[in-house]
Amino acid sequence: MNASKAITADLSVPLGEDYPEIRASIRRICQDFPGEYWRDLDARSAYPEAFVQALTDAGYLSVLIPEEYGGAGLPLRAASVILEEIHAAGCSAGACHAQMYTMGTLLRHGSEEQKQRFLPEIAAGRLRLQAFGITEPTTGSDTTQLKTRAELVRDPAGDHYVVNGQKVWTSRALYSDLMMLLVRTTPADQVAKKTEGLSVLLVDMREARGKGLEIRPIKAMVNHNTTEVFIDNLKVPAANRIGEEGRGFRYILDGMNAERIIAASEAIGDTRWFIRKATEYANQRVVFDRPIGKNQGIQFPIARAYTQLVAAEMMVRKATSLFAAGQPCGEDANIAKLLSTEAAWQAAEACLQTHGGFGFAAEYDVERKWREVRVMQVAPISTNLILAHVAEHVLGLPRSY
Ligand SMILES: Cc1cc2nc3c(=O)[nH]c(=O)nc-3n(C[C@H](O)[C@H](O)[C@H](O)COP(=O)(O)OP(=O)(O)OC[C@H]3O[C@@H](n4cnc5c(N)ncnc54)[C@H](O)[C@@H]3O)c2cc1C
Repeated sequence: MNASKAITADLSVPLGEDYPEIRASIRRICQDFPGEYWRDLDARSAYPEAFVQALTDAGYLSVLIPEEYGGAGLPLRAASVILEEIHAAGCSAGACHAQMYTMGTLLRHGSEEQKQRFLPEIAAGRLRLQAFGITEPTTGSDTTQLKTRAELVRDPAGDHYVVNGQKVWTSRALYSDLMMLLVRTTPADQVAKKTEGLSVLLVDMREARGKGLEIRPIKAMVNHNTTEVFIDNLKVPAANRIGEEGRGFRYILDGMNAERIIAASEAIGDTRWFIRKATEYANQRVVFDRPIGKNQGIQFPIARAYTQLVAAEMMVRKATSLFAAGQPCGEDANIAKLLSTEAAWQAAEACLQTHGGFGFAAEYDVERKWREVRVMQVAPISTNLILAHVAEHVLGLPRSY
């Protein structure tokens, strides 16, 4: 069991409102995007163009890009704070968080030429890296079994891959210029380990659409602008492969801890929103001649959700500090993701129940946010797979899959 492994680094975990200027600035931006804005998008399954543009213009979607490539060069915690505040304000970062999720793969494993080519354009807001194609319809959570195949073709005009396959739940693909795509470059029966033979390609969808790439929206329970992607003899320049051929799964895994921490931060923001909303309503709604918040049946679920919020937030901050210190943080990042999404779900339930029938009325925004946090139990990683990680890698139980 690894749980009690000593951490030798001198770690500090900041408490309270860290990055206060960023928080204040995000709150100001979010004031321009109230509930009506999100409800209208939700009803039309539309993309929050104006919101994403406002964040881009203010430089918040490029905080993780180093300064030499035009970004702010801030640590992961800054990205977490941005996403937390967006969600705490009742907005949703689902339309644009992938630029933070995927950035590490390009930064850590991309070549200098690729960084020069893409990062300044992304930082300037002229290029969007918002699509991340991993999940496939037939293989789901079993990522190493994915079927999308890329074959290298040697070509005097420039080597390229010919890609065939299908992805599902590729969010934002219709609103992104680039897609980070995980493909199999060596057939599974020709590799020693199933994690080998996968590669990451950066697909320029501006060139690819209509030439082997077809994107179809999926109508879903939440407005996540998610799609199915059909890939048919698509040519992708070999120069767009990130890192070495065959090591793509490792590169994606490298980014998972950051992704878990960032997703957890969004859940923390949602939890804050639900608790605030529930508390305000419980204090103000009078039934049987008293505010409903006077009833312990109403108070206690909100108070319990608050205790879960505080505990989950400590885990997020601990995982972030370990990440920043370059220490192993897989256990902590996974636990942070699990606890914060569960806190968000408990808070969502308490908030909905506190609102009674009005919780179901779209104009209160509770039902929309309730739907949105439910997704976090499944994407970007489902709760069971986090528990499987803890069981196997922390507790030393047998691998279950
Ligand atoms: C709104 C939304 C947006 C998404 N965006 C993206 C995106 O941008 N890019 C992308 O690549 N993917 C995306 N996804 C896909 C998401 O990552 C997957 O849905 C998720 O990883 C689970 O895969 P699956 O849906 O195929 O479920 P499955 O793998 O079929 O699993 C179904 C259920 O069985 C459980 N299960 C499976 N195997 C085990 C096991 N061994 N032990 C215990 N339980 C198990 C799972 O936990 C789950 O509850 C998105 C999904 C949604 C809903």
